[in-house]
Amino acid sequence: MRSETIAIHGGYTADPTTRSVAVPIYQTVAYAFDSAEHGAALFNLELEGHRYSRISNPTTAVLEQRVAALEGGVDALCVSSGQAALNYSVLGLTESGSNLVSVPQLYGTTHTLFAHVLPKLGIDVRFAESDRPLDIERLIDDRTKAVFCESVGNPAGNICDIEALATVAHKHGLPLLVDNTVATPMLLRPIDYGADIVVHSLTKFLGGHGTTLGGIIVDSGNFPWERYSTRFPMFSEPDASYHNMIYSSHFGRAAYIARCRSVFQRTMGAVLSPLSAFLLLQGIETVGVRIDRHVENARRVAEFLRDDDRVDWVNYAGFADNPYYTLAQKYLGGRACSIMTFGIRGGFEGGTAFYNALGLIKRLVNLGDAKSLACHPASTTHRQMSAQEQRNAGVTPETIRLSIGIEHVDDIISDLDQALGAAAGRLT
Ligand SMILES: *Cc1c(COP(=O)(O)O)cnc(C)c1O
Repeated sequence: MRSETIAIHGGYTADPTTRSVAVPIYQTVAYAFDSAEHGAALFNLELEGHRYSRISNPTTAVLEQRVAALEGGVDALCVSSGQAALNYSVLGLTESGSNLVSVPQLYGTTHTLFAHVLPKLGIDVRFAESDRPLDIERLIDDRTKAVFCESVGNPAGNICDIEALATVAHKHGLPLLVDNTVATPMLLRPIDYGADIVVHSLTKFLGGHGTTLGGIIVDSGNFPWERYSTRFPMFSEPDASYHNMIYSSHFGRAAYIARCRSVFQRTMGAVLSPLSAFLLLQGIETVGVRIDRHVENARRVAEFLRDDDRVDWVNYAGFADNPYYTLAQKYLGGRACSIMTFGIRGGFEGGTAFYNALGLIKRLVNLGDAKSLACHPASTTHRQMSAQEQRNAGVTPETIRLSIGIEHVDDIISDLDQALGAAAGRLT
């Protein structure tokens, strides 16, 4: 099936008991055992089934199967937010004393996790100078456990050369971990280009309506953990925390994601609620048509800004003179995402004057909503960074990041037009 169809039907046929066509909300914590023996078989993972909703839930399982299918993975694990997905996906590969090599263009909170929180657990994150494969490769050593990138960086708008990064990672026996939140599987499936693990904030385009937090980790099933068992002994050695389970033998290709669930989700517990899973499933049903409109509206807005004298610069990968234009053609089929950054004259003051004048377009820190949104990173998401770190992340004092929604494009453009006028008035 094509992605648009998977988005509507993936992971679900009809509830076996009620024949419900919509995915039911299983608002339950636990599931009854037929007998002591039945419970024991479930705990031994000899039988498939649900035991306790911290570990798995039937509503959430549909969402996991649907997104795994959209991304072309073997299995997935839902968690309570995109940040929880990033946390568990990294913990699933690392331990104290190991390191991760990352591109520098990251979502602000991911940068904080990598630069300030993981190091306190003994996990060092090395930021490359750029997203170029050579800059990544020179930081890899024998304690590196993964290479990390955002397929489309938030807010920098850079597009990573996933195929080249996967080649570098694999050459060193490492998995490539990709945050695909901004692109969504409707525009790009990183696993098709060699990515091994994909994470998402479901909060953004997949949910799509700004109502529900959620995250997911998708396992491609392609990384050969057993071949690199010295670097990744956790998949081929008995796990004392789970009656000496050997993940590779028991779960085969799904060893990584099974361990994320039975070690990290089970003991750390950042669980997605079944109601949230239901709401996110509703959003995903329309992601195909929404992304088409997002992309088309964004192109029109980018052209408006580029042609306006009050605007200094526009960073939009759909323009032929953008440094990421060729990669946008290759990885996004030329459908540059609906996130863009731009700057008006007047530095921090110009940026904030414009920002304060917006009407229809909401001032907030979110993206991927049906509504058009604007963020001023220097005063919000990226304010904890040094000026140099901001520049590396693609943020200058006047930068405004737009997430173009699916309203009528003329209404979006009129709001931008009046806010540009108001800012120009303030500055002269
Ligand atoms: C929003 C976002 C996250 C974090 O997701 P939450 O659901 O808010 O925790 C991670 N990565 C990217 C690229 C994001 O845009």
